[in-house]
Order: sequence, then C-alpha cells, then structure tokens
Amino acid sequence: MARIVVVFDFDKTIIDCDSDNWVVDQLGATELFEHLLPTMPWNSLMDRMMKELHLQGKTIEEISDCLKRAPLDPRIITAVKSAYDLGCDLRVVSDANLFFVVTVLKHHGLLEYFSEINTNPSYMDEEGRLRIFPYHDFTTSSHGCSLCPPNMCKGKIIERIQAQAPADGKKRFIYLGDGKGDYCPSLKFSEEDYVMPRKNYPLWQLICDNPQQLKAEVHEWSNGEELERTLLQLVNMSNTAEHNNAAQLFSGDCKLETIPASPNEALLLALRVPH
Ligand SMILES: [Mg+2]
Ligand SMILES: [Zn+2]
Repeated sequence: MARIVVVFDFDKTIIDCDSDNWVVDQLGATELFEHLLPTMPWNSLMDRMMKELHLQGKTIEEISDCLKRAPLDPRIITAVKSAYDLGCDLRVVSDANLFFVVTVLKHHGLLEYFSEINTNPSYMDEEGRLRIFPYHDFTTSSHGCSLCPPNMCKGKIIERIQAQAPADGKKRFIYLGDGKGDYCPSLKFSEEDYVMPRKNYPLWQLICDNPQQLKAEVHEWSNGEELERTLLQLVNMSNTAEHNNAAQLFSGDCKLETIPASPNEALLLALRVPH
C-alpha cells in the first residue's frame, strides 16, 4: 500500500498569516523591516530584526506569546489530526524558522503529528536573542535553483524526501502551499501526486499561468474548511483506490483494510539543520 506523504507549507497555509511579518508587525518593528528589506535577503533580515527587537528589550517570551496569537483556523487542526489518523505521514517544509514553527505547532497541540520539520534553523544565544540562519548556507555554496530564494529550495527538500528508502512501499504526495517558494517543489511531483494551492495566492497564479508545467493533479482551496474537506477527500480517495487495486491483485476472500495501519510509532521529529 502506498504511503501518503502530506507536505504542508507553514505561513498562510497552516497559519493564516506570515509568521515573520506577524512578529515584526505585532512588536512594532514594521517600519525598520520595510526600510531594511531592499538591502538584504529576507532570511538575513529576520535574523537582523531579532537583533533589533532584542536591543529594544523585547524578550523571547514576548515573541513566543505573539506567535501563539497568530491566526490558525480550527479546521486546520482537525485536518491535520484526521490525515494523521488516516495513516498519512505529515511533514512541514517552511521558509520561516524552527522556533516560530515549533512554538505555533506546540501551542495548538499539533507538533507530535508531524514526522519532520524542514525549515531555517534558529536558536536562542546566551544573551537571549533569537538567531535565525539559512537552511542552505548560501555563503559557502549555492543550492543551484534559480526559482528559489538563496536560503532555501523547497524542491531540493522534496527530492530528498522522494529519494528516501520506501520502507513501506511507494509514496504518494499531497503538497499544500500558497507562495512563490512552493512552485519549485510542485514541479517535482508525478501524475500520481496532488498539489493543493491556495486560491488567488502566488502559487495558484503560477500554476494557472502555465498549467501544463505540472504533472501532479491540482486541487485548489481558499480557507481552512476547504483545505480540510479537499485534503481528506484526496486521502480517502487514494486509500480506496489502493484498496481496490490491491483487491484485484489478490483473491476475493483476502481481507484488506481500507485504512492503512497507524503511522510508524517511532515517529521522530527530525529537525533539519544546514549541512
Ligand atoms: Mg506560505
Ligand atoms: Zn528550487
């Protein structure tokens, strides 16, 4: 039975805002952020903004509290839990950073549902300042993808997941995202996979501009309710199709479950750090 791997973008997909902008705006640093934006890459700017907020006396607790207030549709919570219960392997691929993503997922009780979080590394230094680093260290070498920002190529991350030894058979992907950075990974999927772009957001627009570029089947969504309904339909459909195929291969009296066994119990939160 193919294992369904559901890959979620984080900003404007799991949460209904951009966590970087949310923290900067909520802590009153929007003007400085916009002033510096033309001068450096986004990821470097976020590290710089954490320095500025630290200098202004803002603590890591204030940043954390602010992240916990970020809007997250309750239907996203039920979607994640239901997909997990249906046997999916859930992962995050995000251009935010580890502290932001983990803080939000933990707050909503979702962290343990994900087997892997791929994002920019971050840690708190001895002075209590949050440091944010690129996923790919672009100061030493480029990841070589012209579609993606220098710090992260989500397509490369998807290729790594695709290449992982298929311990329990074939993998089928469902990828959910909204942004420009989600286009490169969307191009990596096959006819058996699904891409779920958020309607009227940049990924959706890029797909609409050139629909023949994607091999995967496309299913749009606009809000948490549509995300949940569409995602669970695709998961159930894939599971049923697998069941029917398997039933044809085996004799009629062979009992097969329509729902795969629960995910690997040794779910490890593999926190990806740059190489
Ligand atoms: Mg996003
Ligand atoms: Zn790329």
